[in-house]
Amino acid sequence: MSIRTGADYIQAIKSRKPEVWLGGRRITNLSEEPIFKQPIEELAKLYDMQYDPKYQDRITHVCEETGERVNNAFLIPRNGGDLKARRELFEIWAKATFGLMGRTPDFLATVVTAMASNDWFFREYGDQWGDNIVNYYKYIRDNDLFLTHAIINPQNDRSKASNDQVDMYTHLGVVRETDEGLIVRGSKMLATLAPLTDEVIIYSYPSFKPGDEKYAISFALPIDTPGLRILCREATQDGTRSTWDHPLASRFEEMDAVLVFNDVLVPWNRVFINQNVEAGNLLYPKTGINLQPSHQSAIRGLVKISFVTEVACSIADSIGVDGFLNVQNQLTELLQGVETIRALVRVSEYEYDTTPYGEAIPAIVPLETVRGILPKLYPRAIEILQIIGAGGLLMSPTGADFTNPELTEDMNKYYGGREGVPADDRVRLFKLAWDLCGEAFGQRLVQYERYYSGDPVRKMAMFYNTHKRKNPTYPMVEEALKESLEMSKIKVMN
Ligand SMILES: Cc1cc2nc3c(=O)[nH]c(=O)nc-3n(C[C@H](O)[C@H](O)[C@H](O)COP(=O)(O)OP(=O)(O)OC[C@H]3O[C@@H](n4cnc5c(N)ncnc54)[C@H](O)[C@@H]3O)c2cc1C
Repeated sequence: MSIRTGADYIQAIKSRKPEVWLGGRRITNLSEEPIFKQPIEELAKLYDMQYDPKYQDRITHVCEETGERVNNAFLIPRNGGDLKARRELFEIWAKATFGLMGRTPDFLATVVTAMASNDWFFREYGDQWGDNIVNYYKYIRDNDLFLTHAIINPQNDRSKASNDQVDMYTHLGVVRETDEGLIVRGSKMLATLAPLTDEVIIYSYPSFKPGDEKYAISFALPIDTPGLRILCREATQDGTRSTWDHPLASRFEEMDAVLVFNDVLVPWNRVFINQNVEAGNLLYPKTGINLQPSHQSAIRGLVKISFVTEVACSIADSIGVDGFLNVQNQLTELLQGVETIRALVRVSEYEYDTTPYGEAIPAIVPLETVRGILPKLYPRAIEILQIIGAGGLLMSPTGADFTNPELTEDMNKYYGGREGVPADDRVRLFKLAWDLCGEAFGQRLVQYERYYSGDPVRKMAMFYNTHKRKNPTYPMVEEALKESLEMSKIKVMN
């Protein structure tokens, strides 16, 4: 098979029966469930873009191995041109959702491609694990599948190891091995978009201690595997609110879920790491599998913060406050934030590295810098939107008010913006802003930027420690001290 259309994706959703729970109900018809209906349509549009002549050559390529057309996320980059081809995909798909959907199918396709291009790592622990990851990559590439992932454990007691939780299988672990594969039990937290995907892949951040063997696993399964339960968080919208009143929340709800495995069979050919603390801990540092997906995330983040900046500028312009010095300063703060991220992304592509295995990887330092500053820039952008929009953000009427002729005069008189900005344009703009900065939908988007790839506090500390390891001395300081010492000696002698 080759690239899928939107209809193919929707058909796949209809053909599966994953165990999805939402608001105390088991959801049996995902594609008709109001909360999921529009997000499914939005994801389907991305797949359709693969057949749109305007985008096809920019987001897909013909696979050398199969001669079939595949998504650029499955391209193993060998040079700067390949990275550019990927950037085009990441950017075009991110723009299609204004950067508001973080886990579009390109994200995990990129992760699995990075794993397969580092199959040498899995082979260090047995050829079968290396074969499995390569075969899995080919399977999802050639069927154009959509994955979610779950890395962290449920947030019960972070002060205790997996072994020490009240129940030994609170955190996902292996119960036993059988001829067919592993039997796993327990939970993994936070699989974004899980109900709407084809497959789930499990792996972990490096955190295992000796004795944690049963938890040090990596594998992938179809999302409707028997025994796999998907517990959705409360929705940020009920699926019935109009696109007029909630132009973003009604379209881009990206459901997150806790995954519970009730003695689930993982066939041997789907296992990538088997109860190996060393492999579990070295997966990230040895393979750099986070680097290629960080490229996707940084570009997606750039689109999102650019969007919020445009909304803030439009709001300020629409009510005539963008001539004030304080507002101009706040908008400039946003514009310069966008430029900072844009520059870092470009540097990461320009200063790319090639691994001994021939994989071109964007430069890590600028990408990790994006990871460090975006969790601060984004909440600040939302704050600026709230400050500039002020009371107007709360005082919007509904689309229904605009359709009642009795209210037309009031609507036009009291809700219009500066000269030339009609009432319904201004109100719709403010509603767009409120979805981003007021609604539960927007609050989730803030939380996403803070945490989507780990705790920013620990990520920043890791950045410093890595920096220090690579730069153990301070040559400029030494040089300055040496020169000044020499100069002081000359002065004394004189
Ligand atoms: C909207 C959203 C979507 C996400 N999507 C996904 C997804 O699709 N797949 C996925 O796998 N993950 C996803 N994540 C989860 C993400 O990986 C985690 O949120 C992140 O790793 C932080 O873990 P936590 O939320 O359990 O916080 P915790 O680790 O429990 O941290 C809670 C607080 O305690 C502090 N803290 C905890 N432990 C330490 C420590 N050892 N040292 C110092 N401080 C500490 C933290 O700084 C933080 O303030 C998503 C998160 C969000 C918010």
